[in-house]
Amino acid sequence: MDVSFDQSYLWHPYSQIPSATPALAVIRAEGVYLTLADGRQLIDGMASWWACIHGYNQPKLNQAIKSQVDQMAHVMFGGLTHEPAIELGKKLVAITADSLRYIFYADSGSVGVEVAMKMAAQYCFEQGLTAKNKFLTFKQGYHGDTFGAMSVCDPVNGMHHKFSRLLQQPIFIESPQCGFFDQWHDHYVAELENHLKASHESIIAVIFEPIVQGAGGMRFYHPNYLQAARDLCDRYNVLLIFDEIATGFGRTGKLFAYQHAEVVPDILILGKALTGGYMSLAAVLTCEKVAHGIDQPFMHGPTFMANPLACRVAAASINLLLESPWQNRIKAIEQQLQTQLAECANYPAVKAVRVLGAIGVIELNQNPDWLPIQQRLVDAGVWLRPFKNLLYLMPPYIITKEQLTQITTAMSDTLRAIK
Ligand code: PMP
Repeated sequence: MDVSFDQSYLWHPYSQIPSATPALAVIRAEGVYLTLADGRQLIDGMASWWACIHGYNQPKLNQAIKSQVDQMAHVMFGGLTHEPAIELGKKLVAITADSLRYIFYADSGSVGVEVAMKMAAQYCFEQGLTAKNKFLTFKQGYHGDTFGAMSVCDPVNGMHHKFSRLLQQPIFIESPQCGFFDQWHDHYVAELENHLKASHESIIAVIFEPIVQGAGGMRFYHPNYLQAARDLCDRYNVLLIFDEIATGFGRTGKLFAYQHAEVVPDILILGKALTGGYMSLAAVLTCEKVAHGIDQPFMHGPTFMANPLACRVAAASINLLLESPWQNRIKAIEQQLQTQLAECANYPAVKAVRVLGAIGVIELNQNPDWLPIQQRLVDAGVWLRPFKNLLYLMPPYIITKEQLTQITTAMSDTLRAIK
């Protein structure tokens, strides 16, 4: 494999050209294992950025794509429809809250966020709420890399401060300070309440990641925040958008993170694990109020909207998940992570250890030089992709006890050595 071409000419996520270090060449992926071109095998603790929840080379998902490709790989969704889009739509409606019945398919998570923001905005404009012109969101949030999505990412620590002069300025409030397992007090929601009280006439929607703030800091916060936000949005006539691109499909122990509080947003964005990590697809679900409140054409329509291959594999992935003992698997991963990562909290370099569902996070006191650490992890047969001061994992749900132990041991061994 011509890795030097890759290093010189191909951009990778958040990288520059030429890349300082060559990317590892993968030639095959099976179950939880990535096979490198030099024959080494790594356990993927990242599930390819939360997406490959069933592992790789999954026979039922392979079959779904193979049979669909022979029938119809793609067809435009403008004026045409097809069974995979309908089948997936029915499934999404069935597994989400009753009120979420209308679906817009988008190409990726970031585009899903754009669609959700545009949907909320067009709803407000057509309802005559024309003074509404901004969003409200949390600091330390992450919603994607396109312009609308970037505008609601953390303004300082996010990757997007470079573009801030081009971005819409939303209202940023402190991220929820009450941890998932902490004692809840109503004062935790005071800042949100104050802003909605003062500025609701100009706020289109509140948008955030429920329960888990992912790429903006890997923080877990209290379910009561969701209920309080729902109540306040209702009181002040502001739409509520949940970005469940990372948390959807079981990752936090519930099928959707909003179910920790049994709170339903007006707009829900799904992506990543939607297709079991096979193809890029997002779905934006909404309720009657918004869908029928937009009584003119909704102005979005990507070329590859509702791609049949992606819809078919997404439907197969949902079947596979629901037929599997996913709750037990995630509970078992959670308990194992709690036990095996606990000792890391005592290491000098470590600030905190957090576990929720199939997510384990080790937060360090400082941003270390990750390169040698990642090298040590690879030497131990483990693939993780730390960032800032965070070493974390969210493995495929099919990971075995032994495979997970291999990852936690490698994490623990490498962090113990840092002073
Ligand atoms: N929202 C959240 C919560 C995410 O975690 C991500 C991806 N990390 C996105 C949006 C953007 O999704 P994509 O990378 O598919 O555009």
